[in-house]
Amino acid sequence: MSASTKRNIATQGSEDFTGIKLREPAAYAAGFNGIKAALQHTFKEMGVTKSVKSLFQMNQKEGFDCPGCAWPDPDEPSKLGEYCENGAKALAEEATNAHLDAHFFAEHSVEEISHWSDYKIGKSGRLTQPMVLRPGKINYEPISWENAFNLIAQELHELNHPNEAIFYTSGRSSNEAAFLYGLFVRAFGTNNMPDCSNMCHESSGVALSETLGIGKGSVKLEDFDQAEVVMVIGQNPGTNHPRMLSALEKCKANGGKIISINPLEEAGLIRFKNPQEVSGMLGAGVKLTDIYLQVKINQDVSLIKLICKKLQKIHLENGTVFDEEFIKKYTAGFEDYLLHLDKFSEKELLDLSGVDEQLVNQAVQLLAKKNKIIICWAMGLTQHKNGVENIKECVNLLLLKGSLGKPGAGTCPVRGHSNVQGDRTVGIMHFASEPLNQAIKNVFGFDAPAEEGFDTVHAIKAMYQKKAKVFIALGGNFVSAASDTVYTAQALQNCNLTVQISTKLNRSHTVTGKTALILPTLGRSELDIKDRKPRHFTVENSMGKVHQSKGMLTPASQHLKSEPEIVGAIANAYFKGNHTVSWTSLCENYEALREKMAKVLSGFDQMNQRSKGSGFYLPNNVRDLDFSKLPNQKAQFSNCALPKHNLNEDEFLLMTIRSHDQFNTTIYGLHDRYRGIYNERRVVFMHKNDMQKLGLKKLDVINLTSNYAGKERKVFNFLAIPYNIPKGNLAAYFPETNPLIPIDEFADKSNTPISKSVVVRVQKV
Ligand code: SF4
Repeated sequence: MSASTKRNIATQGSEDFTGIKLREPAAYAAGFNGIKAALQHTFKEMGVTKSVKSLFQMNQKEGFDCPGCAWPDPDEPSKLGEYCENGAKALAEEATNAHLDAHFFAEHSVEEISHWSDYKIGKSGRLTQPMVLRPGKINYEPISWENAFNLIAQELHELNHPNEAIFYTSGRSSNEAAFLYGLFVRAFGTNNMPDCSNMCHESSGVALSETLGIGKGSVKLEDFDQAEVVMVIGQNPGTNHPRMLSALEKCKANGGKIISINPLEEAGLIRFKNPQEVSGMLGAGVKLTDIYLQVKINQDVSLIKLICKKLQKIHLENGTVFDEEFIKKYTAGFEDYLLHLDKFSEKELLDLSGVDEQLVNQAVQLLAKKNKIIICWAMGLTQHKNGVENIKECVNLLLLKGSLGKPGAGTCPVRGHSNVQGDRTVGIMHFASEPLNQAIKNVFGFDAPAEEGFDTVHAIKAMYQKKAKVFIALGGNFVSAASDTVYTAQALQNCNLTVQISTKLNRSHTVTGKTALILPTLGRSELDIKDRKPRHFTVENSMGKVHQSKGMLTPASQHLKSEPEIVGAIANAYFKGNHTVSWTSLCENYEALREKMAKVLSGFDQMNQRSKGSGFYLPNNVRDLDFSKLPNQKAQFSNCALPKHNLNEDEFLLMTIRSHDQFNTTIYGLHDRYRGIYNERRVVFMHKNDMQKLGLKKLDVINLTSNYAGKERKVFNFLAIPYNIPKGNLAAYFPETNPLIPIDEFADKSNTPISKSVVVRVQKV
């Protein structure tokens, strides 16, 4: 068990095994088993009628947006259902019939709950009334909304400086809630707005901004129909963005090819049985990946450099591989990049990547002849020390091929949480933006702070050092999402007040400050009624499209408030009418709020009208090949160094991964069907030769230890599983292995924790 505090709180759940069963890893994704799992989860949590009613409304134009990932909906969603297995599981979690009230908290202390597994905590159900945990107490008690807001206002007023408060946002919050929250935080006087993006795609944002001038991807969903090659790198769409498989299927049907680059050969990229089609259900499905390159953990830069070098060789022979016209007109740094490539030998790059050369050559031959290329990626590229450079190397390849600003080509960072991109667009960020501050001044008449605030890692350090004393979270499960769990828990426990604005119970409600508040809020699928009229809000998908979302289910409790109402009420309690912003009218009237947003945010004009139906795309300079904001007004080639790990004989590189029954920190179940693991999460995937070397047999019990700057971090009791993974590499689920990731190890420039390349040792128990 991990560290405890005065309240004797466990920072992770039980280390007991739950009864593992192993099968062969799956050779395809979705199909009948996907439908079965989706219905099992929804029927169990919500009952049949509610499940059927709500599933048909999810991702429909007049319905609600899936609370799962940020993959876009087609303009004409299928009336038969536009959701995946994991979208259904996300809905089941949110709309569960299990509800918690004051009796539950009287019966179970935070100490007791903290010793439960994340799975058990999550299954406890929806929060239904505001609760407070007073100093020295171990049970939450009910509190009125008014008293809760006053308590927050009082704690905020007692701070010596606004920078002593941290305001976290998870990617579930709507554009409206996030905008209002950002406005309040700035009015309060700080930019301490860490968000979940700091822990996932921040590296993408930094790399894309520096090379292409916008921190978002450039492709639209329809580009997949026209792409000649889609490269899927460091991503597992079958589990994390399942409807992306339909886009890949369409690409294949139109003659496109898929190259997958990943240390694990995930089922979702092997074959797809589309549950929306009879042929998908009854037949063998569609083979997705044409060329699979099993790269070693964090050797993507080596592999892409190798591909670029080999492409250059062919180009020197026939002059047709690089798009010279595009390079000349739109890019800077090409000559330098070629000189940089000369420094590396093909052999060196090949050895580092660990990939079979014949397969690399096949990929090179394919890429040489095509120029409509999309590169998709996720955490497998971003969560490394060189996360920013991983993405820059992908951009280099696209620039060489002229694969930007044309149909069927471009960048595609695939976002995890459903509105993580939107929250950033509407102002959730720790850095100060001069244009945004000026627009706020013009529209709301106050000066927003110009000083940079804390991102996630630095917010945790500030709380740990007692420089920050109040922590407010608009959604999420911060302690489980962040790195270095024991350190993060201590940081939160050092606070005077922690506040969680949440739909469901999670571990962060047990790892608290001296005083803690739970403020229960409406879920995505629930009706948000004001003056007897349903309100809608908006979200932005992974491809920069803003659209509406309108809930339809009866809320879990009559005591719930919407997120904008909660934020507005905190602001009201704090300012007591003494501010230029009319918080009450903005938090109650979303139309009026959107009118203000349209005035402040670039690209949001006529937001109220345009967000209806299938919504509107935000401006994207890469689509227009406009690089005017970059040096020399050109897209930038980058010379990226090779990652160095220098492992000792007994050390491995560990990447944290999600199981198929999991979305971010939410654990839907204990299976990982595609990898053949059933009823257990405490597993470590290892190459059979590595197991042999350590004298390990299948299911032997092991501990893992990391040692950074002389500090040992340990996790206990995992089962060793022989698996198809490169030698020297390990994979294990998060959040169970988050305690191994040191708080001070994060990506250069983006500060994203190195969750995908942690150096560890393995000990047999
Ligand atoms: S692909 Fe993502 S957004 Fe779509 S239904 Fe599945 S989890 Fe939800």
